[in-house]
Amino acid sequence: MSHNYYQKELETMPAEQIRALQEEKLRKQVKHVYEHVPYYRDLMDKKGVKPEDIKCLDDIRKLPFISKADLRETYPYGMLAVPLSECVRIQSTSGTTGKRVIAYYTQHDIDLWEECCARAIVAAGGTKEDVVQVCYGYGLFTGGPGLNGGSHKVGSLTLPMSSGNTDRQIQFMMDLKSTIICCTPSYAAYIGESLKEKGYKPEDNSLKAGIFGAEPWTEEMRRDIEKSLGIKAYDIYGLTETSGPGVAFECEEQGGMHINEDHFYAEIIDPETGEVLPEGCEGELVFTSLDKEAFPLLRYRTRDLCVLSREKCSCGRTFVRMAKPKGRSDDMMIIRGVNVFPSQIETVLLNEGYAPNYRIEVDRVNNTDTLDVYVELSPEQFSDTVGDITEKERKLAAAIHTMLGIHPAIHLVAPKSIARSEGKAVRVVDRRKLHD
Ligand code: ADP
Ligand code: ZN
Repeated sequence: MSHNYYQKELETMPAEQIRALQEEKLRKQVKHVYEHVPYYRDLMDKKGVKPEDIKCLDDIRKLPFISKADLRETYPYGMLAVPLSECVRIQSTSGTTGKRVIAYYTQHDIDLWEECCARAIVAAGGTKEDVVQVCYGYGLFTGGPGLNGGSHKVGSLTLPMSSGNTDRQIQFMMDLKSTIICCTPSYAAYIGESLKEKGYKPEDNSLKAGIFGAEPWTEEMRRDIEKSLGIKAYDIYGLTETSGPGVAFECEEQGGMHINEDHFYAEIIDPETGEVLPEGCEGELVFTSLDKEAFPLLRYRTRDLCVLSREKCSCGRTFVRMAKPKGRSDDMMIIRGVNVFPSQIETVLLNEGYAPNYRIEVDRVNNTDTLDVYVELSPEQFSDTVGDITEKERKLAAAIHTMLGIHPAIHLVAPKSIARSEGKAVRVVDRRKLHD
């Protein structure tokens, strides 16, 4: 099988060479940040570490971490490492977990980011012959602009749809014969559902691949989307703080996302102690931007939990792979003392034959945590008798109990009663936080 790469030499560089490249870039970057970002210089001074102490990659452990709290404290321009007149763009986080954070880019930073997205598109089979429909949001959110830029670099015909207006998405998809679609996995599921409602079969569209990210999604969800759209679904990961989508991307192997190691140095740490963990251990992902100019974060704590693997990949890429992030450390709910991730519940629901339309509600009643899961029925399932539905609820509760070890209350609800997502889906309501 022949493999396609956007930047073959870099993407298939032998591991020792990548390390050497990273080391060289790291030394330069630490010096750049120390000289131009007083906030980080103070953090380094407090730790008693100077740029010249960073000689090899392992020395990175001497550097202080940066977290979202630091970014909020230095809002808006406290992390700026070049004159503002050198910047050409601002983007911002979605604000999923609180006040938005902004990021700034020089033209060099934009090029680098778009190249990362181009690598993802080519890895998903994209060429200049393709029609790439970008239905991530455009604007401050990085999803739309990132994939749009990547698609331009590949030379594909780019449809800058942005998110929403699903009827128009479908009309353009059919009329213009889109071959690659980029959006959140929850929106992809919704588009698949809408196509079916309009009477289209999966083979009626021209799509061959989808590039989905910006939120956690399970393998079960992947299979569901692949079936409903008749495509191969690729994962893509990124965050505004590191530039946007494209920090890591999946190849045809679909076995974890290759991190663009020539631009980002990844570490996995114990979220409690900050200690760096060996390959294969689950922990919090930490990124260092090795060559961004305007907003070069060193050791940024993403709060995303995942595992890295250096196992050889059949695609020929040598970049380390990250497993699907399980969610952020702050997505984890502690319910009656048990750690629960929404993705675990999603896995059970899809395995039991439900569509990925659900809402999780957590509360505390009489000092006991409660877990309520609302799951939408399909029109066929909804036509069952009351007795059948009660039996279904019992079966689903048992399956979730087997997965988590706690008993949920299941509520099977009417078709279309749970709001669909056009961007990042909000699936959890934790009312305990309202009481605090
Ligand atoms: P916000 O932090 O406000 O959501 P971003 O829009 O920058 O801001 O989102 C970045 C976050 O989205 C990541 O830190 C991660 O939690 C999540 N994310 C992005 N891509 C993926 C993916 N492929 N799988 C799981 N989570 C993802
Ligand atoms: Zn690969």
